Amino acid sequence: MIEYRNLRIALLGAGSVGAQVADQLLTHADELAARVGAGIELVGVAVRDTDAPRTTDIPRELLTTDAESLILGADIVVELMGGLEPARTHILQALNSGADVITANKALLATHGPELFEAAEQVGAQLYYEAAVGGAIPIIRPLRDSLAGDRVTRILGIVNGTTNFILDRMDKHGETMEQALATATELGYAEADPTADIGGYDAAQKAGILASLAFHTLVPADAVYREGITAVTLDDVRNARKAGYVVKLLAICEKLLDPETGREGVSARVYPALVPDEHPLAAVHGANNAVFVEAEAAGPLMFYGAGAGGIQTASAVLGDVVSAARRHVAGGPGVAESTHANLPVLPISAVTTRYQITLQVADQPGVLAAIATLFSEHGVSVETVEQSVASTGGGDGAAAPAATLVIGTHEATEADLAATVAALTTSTVVHCVTGVLRVEGL
Ligand code: NAP
Repeated sequence: MIEYRNLRIALLGAGSVGAQVADQLLTHADELAARVGAGIELVGVAVRDTDAPRTTDIPRELLTTDAESLILGADIVVELMGGLEPARTHILQALNSGADVITANKALLATHGPELFEAAEQVGAQLYYEAAVGGAIPIIRPLRDSLAGDRVTRILGIVNGTTNFILDRMDKHGETMEQALATATELGYAEADPTADIGGYDAAQKAGILASLAFHTLVPADAVYREGITAVTLDDVRNARKAGYVVKLLAICEKLLDPETGREGVSARVYPALVPDEHPLAAVHGANNAVFVEAEAAGPLMFYGAGAGGIQTASAVLGDVVSAARRHVAGGPGVAESTHANLPVLPISAVTTRYQITLQVADQPGVLAAIATLFSEHGVSVETVEQSVASTGGGDGAAAPAATLVIGTHEATEADLAATVAALTTSTVVHCVTGVLRVEGL
């Protein structure tokens, strides 16, 4: 048997994830070596402050602030610093020196992915990023390798644990959005500035990564249609429950026919949506993540688990370390990202889906008929109508009798739905439109 030299691993970052990766590399070095067929040696860990306390025991002599020197001579560079710079520069330096690179940095991939993949391809190195979507959940490798012979048609993902935690609190504990966000912050599920999570930006970055892989097409994060959860009210969540749904922030990637051209394209979008109670994604609680994949031959597949957490995410990073190390031992160039399909990325107007619309209306005869006519005039067909017990108040200070209507539609285009909602808001029998949510997963 050929004795392979030790593979040199440089780690950039020793925070929540990096400290756990260092610990695993040091503690399980023998086991990893046996799996790889070569020794795995952690040669250094770059940080900002070598004296800062660490959550795991990292020998002091491994810590350095000189990332550039550490990268030189490494076989595998693991980037767990986060942020765009200097992470991008370090990754380019590593790839250009022929090292394989592992990153969990979805923000960097969403912004500079094409440049980084191109650099890897130029030198025959490989960029691994299993931990960039879904934390511990294996989803990148299944899409890239296991399903490489199949054709993925749709992905529905809960890929942001913070927003799933918040929506789950609203559903299970009756908390308002503000209360649930405060709970998430207190328990460490939300950052001090939660914009990236509740604004849907983090989920959009992950949707771009998943859509690119699944459909062999470059889908940048800024081409992903995005709505966050800030407009979701406790009433929306309660009305959803009554109608047999739960509200989830979904990342949706699918192949569609463009109604304008009749050509196939890719839709990637993030928004809060109603998911039927019986759909597997409805059972994803707390800060967990799940990715539901539909493929032509495989049918529906569900990937579920911890979407974040230092040690959980380290599991996915270590898997990439083993893959990269095995590639070094086997030799040969890295596998380039496949964008051969190069499909157009479609705008949200190309999407048809079902909707649930909640209205405050005048409680008087003829209102239902007037509203049904208004929907049909705009090409939207009503499937269900729920009317709640009449109350008083029209939202303008008047004490007119009012009722709440929750209307479920058949499939309609975004344009027809928008025209319907605009007409509802100016109708004399409608006091106000209090909620518009799409229905997915049917
Ligand atoms: P973190 O706790 O903030 O740790 C960042 C580490 O990088 C720290 O050790 C820091 O050094 C070091 N660092 C930052 N800037 C540096 C610089 N300019 N030079 C040298 N070292 C630098 O981050 P994290 O939560 O572990 O996340 C790391 C990556 O994993 C991010 O891309 C994140 O999006 C991704 N990720 C995280 C999770 C999670 O659950 N945390 C899940 C999935 C993906 P000091 O310690 O000295 O400050």
